[in-house]
Amino acid sequence: MTYPTQPTASHFINGEYAEDTAGTPIDVIYPATGEQIATVYAATPALIERAIESARAAQITWAAMTGTERGRILRRAAEMMRERNHDLSVLETYDTGKPYQETSVADATSGADALEYFGGMAATLTGEHIQLGEDWVYTRREPLGLCVGIGAWNYPTQIACWKGAPALACGNTMIFKPSETTPLCALKVAEILHEAGLPAGVYNVLQGLGDVGGALVTDPRVDKVSLTGSVPTGRKVYAAAAQGIKHVTMELGGKSPMIVFEDADIDNAVSGAILGNFYSSGQVCSNGTRVFVHKDIKEAFLDRLSTRLKAAVIGDPMQPETSFGPMVSERQMNIVLDYIEKGKAEGARLVCGGTRLDRDGFYLTPTVFADVADDMVIAREEIFGPVMAVLDFEDEADVMARANDTEFGLAAGVFTRDLARAHRVAAGFEAGTCYINTYNDAPVEAPFGGSKASGVGRENSKAAIAYYSQLKSVYVRMGDLEAPF
Ligand code: NAD
Repeated sequence: MTYPTQPTASHFINGEYAEDTAGTPIDVIYPATGEQIATVYAATPALIERAIESARAAQITWAAMTGTERGRILRRAAEMMRERNHDLSVLETYDTGKPYQETSVADATSGADALEYFGGMAATLTGEHIQLGEDWVYTRREPLGLCVGIGAWNYPTQIACWKGAPALACGNTMIFKPSETTPLCALKVAEILHEAGLPAGVYNVLQGLGDVGGALVTDPRVDKVSLTGSVPTGRKVYAAAAQGIKHVTMELGGKSPMIVFEDADIDNAVSGAILGNFYSSGQVCSNGTRVFVHKDIKEAFLDRLSTRLKAAVIGDPMQPETSFGPMVSERQMNIVLDYIEKGKAEGARLVCGGTRLDRDGFYLTPTVFADVADDMVIAREEIFGPVMAVLDFEDEADVMARANDTEFGLAAGVFTRDLARAHRVAAGFEAGTCYINTYNDAPVEAPFGGSKASGVGRENSKAAIAYYSQLKSVYVRMGDLEAPF
């Protein structure tokens, strides 16, 4: 199968595509049909070496350019991504199986937002002046050096840009390793950045599994690691980075709560629950998968939810009307099916869904369990698929304690018309990203990231700059210097 934006080789190193078929082959499967659409080869030690060497060399000249010059290239790349949105969205759909209806508005577009935002910010990055009587200190905001980005498979274009844009704006270079499940999109990001004028070696892409990621994380020439992935992988990567005292950003998993109070607008709450459980077939880290609904409105909520779910158009992701696509892989589909069986075995009430569709590809139906108890596996573990757990509650203090009773802390949402309660609840959530009467918005202007086991650091917004730069203090004495002898 060929498609308009097919990358021409597995890796992108020092400004050009690179190939070495001695690496382990990685089959790229179109999740909607199960067909193999490409093969990439994992990076060999020689390619890893070439990428590190060229990224180290390029960093010196890249950092020596002015912020305005660096930003101009990033903003030009953002424009090119928008112009090519259709082709990039088709590729994203081939890579992930997500419906074109989603990829055309949420993937290359949000990647372009990050390039535009941090491109605009590059010229404004400065240190400060601190007057100390006659003397003074100034700070220099300096890049960290070579940053490694490691991506998950759910938003391959977006993750490549969310990590690359702030890193490059600050004068770092990057080696990005996409998920082995979705290796294609990051190559197009690299291609576009270089077409926009990026010097060779500033943004590189290497394919591979965890071992390639591990080789990058442990290399002493790498200064920073930014991972998007699961908590178990985060623990390993964080520990490996700690050996070299490297900077880290960890964007990890979640099991986020969404609380629907009795005074909520039920239709809006149902919309939030749909967006927070079934967008991208439920493969979104910040999803609000524990939906606590007040007892008084629970049945009404479930009724409307079931009705709305019947309107989901499940099918060919390339058709513009399709609103629900397949799981990213057979493996992920089977993981989710296992959780569905656990939910049934534990006695949760299956309201709808819970099955694999009888067709090619890795299709599940949107699944809702009600009467879920806090200690059930489906209420405690991240499923990363279209499975919503609905839990009952009556009392605010009680539901807050239950909502926070998790190792995760990525996101949380509340639906209520009571303004004071909304802000009180948001303040009480142990989570990095909270929503009031909405769910899963992630504009580049706002910090995004997790607390507790869900992560370290923030992506997007001005906050990301702190994770891709460091401050050097320079003390300047104006007068004579006294010494004790
Ligand atoms: P994963 O943890 O299996 O893999 C993530 C990446 O880490 C992959 O590129 C993989 O090759 C690499 N990797 C694995 N072992 C490694 C090692 N030892 N050293 C270095 N790299 C290694 O995650 P996944 O299944 O690709 O993605 C799903 C997970 O990602 C979910 O838990 C989801 O919540 C999380 N996620 C988080 C965010 C966020 O922003 N917080 C966003 C998207 C996905």
